[in-house]
Amino acid sequence: MQLNKNSEDSIPLKGRLFVVSGPSGAGKGTLVSAALEMLPNLTLSVSATTRNPRPGEVEGVNYHFKSDQEFDELISTDGLLEWARVHQHRYGTLKDQVNRALSEGQDLILEIDLQGYRQIRDHDNEVISVFVAPPTLEELERRLVHRGTESKESIEQRLCTARVEMEAKDSYTVVIVNDDYETAAKELVDFIDENKTKEQ
Ligand code: 5GP
Repeated sequence: MQLNKNSEDSIPLKGRLFVVSGPSGAGKGTLVSAALEMLPNLTLSVSATTRNPRPGEVEGVNYHFKSDQEFDELISTDGLLEWARVHQHRYGTLKDQVNRALSEGQDLILEIDLQGYRQIRDHDNEVISVFVAPPTLEELERRLVHRGTESKESIEQRLCTARVEMEAKDSYTVVIVNDDYETAAKELVDFIDENKTKEQ
């Protein structure tokens, strides 16, 4: 199949929207990076957030870092496809970015939380969604402790959110258990590849 044909008699292509969610520490970021490397027509949506950049994070690459006032403006001007408060900060998907990518025939992947997924699903029943789960909650706790970036309190909070998210995992199109990274990455790539841009 030829993608992005522009001749007048061709049928326009539209990109597909993928959502990936999963508890903090389940490894969704690493799996999404693997998918982006393997699938050239897949792009990552860069969210807006009110949280401060972590060391090494770059404006426009990891996030669009916004003040509270700027985020309020995005909401009031209807600039966000969805937004949610996660662990004290606000995060949202920029509407312009999504519309541009999809109309150009690019597949777009949103790495967002359960609240954001629910908002998108309510408006777009074609959204394809993936839940990345840890093998067990005990293993998730072990990974969060091992990562060494979170306080005890923050780990407790993340585990609490994880329990809520895990209960909703069956509302996603597919669940990938990230036990072995290589296997999980292949599962994600194969799944997205199977659902890649099709002629409308
Ligand atoms: P972090 O601060 O660790 O980068 O992200 C914290 C959480 O916010 C993660 O679960 C991540 O998936 C979620 N998140 C990131 N961007 C968005 C977004 O645009 N919308 C929503 N709803 N959640 C997001």
